[in-house]
Amino acid sequence: MSRRFTFLYIPDSGKKTRRISISHPLLYSALTLILIGSAAMGWVITDYNRLQFDQQHFNDLLVENSEQRQKLSQLGRDLDGLRREMIILSDANAQIQGTLGSGSEKEINLPVGIGGSIETSPADMTLLQQQINDLRLAIDLRRDSQEEVRNLLNDKHSLALATPSGWPTKGWLTSYFGVRASPYSDQEKMHEGLDIAANTGTLVTATADGVVVKSTTEPGFGKVVMIDHGYGYRTIFGHNSKLLVKAGTRVKRGDKIAEVGNTGRSTGSHLHYEIRLNGVPINPRKLL
Ligand SMILES: [Zn+2]
Repeated sequence: MSRRFTFLYIPDSGKKTRRISISHPLLYSALTLILIGSAAMGWVITDYNRLQFDQQHFNDLLVENSEQRQKLSQLGRDLDGLRREMIILSDANAQIQGTLGSGSEKEINLPVGIGGSIETSPADMTLLQQQINDLRLAIDLRRDSQEEVRNLLNDKHSLALATPSGWPTKGWLTSYFGVRASPYSDQEKMHEGLDIAANTGTLVTATADGVVVKSTTEPGFGKVVMIDHGYGYRTIFGHNSKLLVKAGTRVKRGDKIAEVGNTGRSTGSHLHYEIRLNGVPINPRKLL
């Protein structure tokens, strides 16, 4: 007879006591089954947890991937925008070059050769960012140099507006710039301007933009206007019959400033027109 374990179940009083008898092999088999079952259960739970973790990680990766994709497409858009900016700047540059003309003294050196294909795989994101930074730098450089050229053009423009040009009145030349016999003596005298004969009352106009610095009556020039144009240029209009501007008045080329007359040391109705550059009279004929 095999050895057995006996379990006694003793309930509260008044009920029948139960007795369970199990053989050793059966008990061991049962215990082994329970052990295996627990182990299997544990493994399933661990595996399930790992599965959950993997799923979460996978979701995170999906999000990260989508974020990277968005960032990449944003970088792509940035790059496109920068390229467009470069094209606009290049056009502006071409215009400026055209304005300056081919014989310009000022050579404009602008960075060229920006472009080429851009890899757009996420691995090259850093490279893409680098290229964008390079482009930005190039654009800044180009903008600076265009600013410089624009200032130069503005200067040129201002100088052109300040340089006397054209006839100050409608008439005909009666006396030129240079040494001539004085109408008042036998001696030769330097004539520092042009005499333009015209009827009294003919309008006299400014030949460049500037500020009236003198509008008065003098013994020699009679009723005279002097305009300062900047850049060293001044113009003088003498022998007028009437003055139409006051000292301090800003004038533009073509503005009425006086009327032709015969005031001061003059032998007939005419305008004495003089241009001074840094205080030295120059021949106005070249600038008519
Ligand atoms: Zn004169």
